[in-house]
Amino acid sequence: MSTETILHINVTNLAYIAASVLFILGLKRLGSPATARNGNRLSSIAMLVAVLATITGNDITSWEWILGGILIGSIIGAISARKIAMTEMPQLVAIFNGFGGAASGVIATGELIRLIDSGSIIPQDVSITIMASVIVGGITLTGSFIAYGKLQGLVPTRPLLLPIRNVINIALLIAMFIATVWLVIEPSTTAFFVAGGIALALGILIVIPIGGADMPVVIALLNSYSGIAGAATGFVLGNNMLIIAGSLVGASGLILTRIMTKAMNRSLANVMLGGFGVEDGSNGSDQEEVRPVTSIQADDAATMLAYAQSVIFVPGYGLAVAQAQHQVRELSDLLKEKGISVKYAIHPVAGRMPGHMNVLLAEANVPYDELKDLDEINNEFQRTDVAVVIGANDVTNPAARTDSASPIYGMPILNVDQAQSVIMMKRSMSSGFAGVQNELFFLDKTQMLFGDAKDSVEKITAEVKDL
Ligand code: NDP
Repeated sequence: MSTETILHINVTNLAYIAASVLFILGLKRLGSPATARNGNRLSSIAMLVAVLATITGNDITSWEWILGGILIGSIIGAISARKIAMTEMPQLVAIFNGFGGAASGVIATGELIRLIDSGSIIPQDVSITIMASVIVGGITLTGSFIAYGKLQGLVPTRPLLLPIRNVINIALLIAMFIATVWLVIEPSTTAFFVAGGIALALGILIVIPIGGADMPVVIALLNSYSGIAGAATGFVLGNNMLIIAGSLVGASGLILTRIMTKAMNRSLANVMLGGFGVEDGSNGSDQEEVRPVTSIQADDAATMLAYAQSVIFVPGYGLAVAQAQHQVRELSDLLKEKGISVKYAIHPVAGRMPGHMNVLLAEANVPYDELKDLDEINNEFQRTDVAVVIGANDVTNPAARTDSASPIYGMPILNVDQAQSVIMMKRSMSSGFAGVQNELFFLDKTQMLFGDAKDSVEKITAEVKDL
């Protein structure tokens, strides 16, 4: 190897080390809303360094495809980042996860076809890593698209339970394993298509039966799969950067999965076996309830709040839809001026992505020390005069404690039902993401304030100012 080539390799590897350090610092900074933007910036710079080092560090024979890909990818990325509403961010993340898995699988496929066509003997460790990338990437692609469908409302969020689904899945897993072993022993495109096709089918079959409430776990897991597929492709190509970046995504996704399973009080096996807590044949309930509820208007809600001593706001996905965070902050400032204690109860899976509520409230400059985690706040509800639920539903549903047939049974919830009184802001009687009716609506202490959360909070604020 010439000195020039060695120098070239060293420079590329140094750039990879710099990018890896930036990725790690970026990830660390994502841990707090105060530093998250900076973390994102550092990670984007890391990605730029990694891409430039990869392009310049290899002998590129044709630039057309690379430049075309960069151009198209950059345009799609820039447009989606600008156009996508904050409420659609979880869907975008699901799609990007899927594409990440697909990209790894496609690169590994290309490498396999190249090796088969060249007629050379493919070492078994190479074919095993290629198949790991193709299988994990395939499951990530279709699983993420089903997750996207559920988040977008295109696929029902209730658990969709096929009869003997676990038998079908196990049979497919065995068939995929046999095809993979066949390919490793004797590389053939038939075995590849069988194993790859089954992986794509498994992605759909594994995610379809998982109920809406368990989706945070699945999304975190798919995120980790996209990293694992990337790392496997890194081994296939012998690219250190891809191995490191893929491992970082894989490991952080697994940590997030662990946090989410803990938040849901589920084991991973529960979630992956699907339809936990729902009997075969029943699909949960998303019927609109016809039992009577007590409803109030904004002026009554304002009176309740202005004469309370303690108030807990419970934000959920509806806060994000209504984009009411600034109005909630204004109302909270007003109540604090009146000497009322105000706190925010944050459920780990409220909204549609991890940290969703923290991000929204940080955007409205809600002081971070007023945001209380589930464990911190749950004992306080019984000493609280008014709990104001703003577009939250599943995370407040007492059925999680009492109804063993419910898809959300066992999930820790915010003890809103233990507050002295509850104001529930939402637009209708419809259920939350899990498709389960909420018993909280029907309690004597609950007052339903129907309407868009932003409108309702604005009206309450105007009334409180006059009291
Ligand atoms: P839910 O989806 O249970 O409920 C949201 C409520 O907001 C609905 O009942 C809806 O009722 C109401 N709403 C919607 N728009 C408005 C509006 N403009 N004004 C007022 N209310 C509105 O949300 P939660 O946050 O309680 O629970 C999150 C759910 O999502 C959990 O099941 C969780 O497992 C799941 N999930 C969470 C993810 C995460 O990472 N955090 C990812 C994927 C799923 P109405 O239509 O009547 O207004």
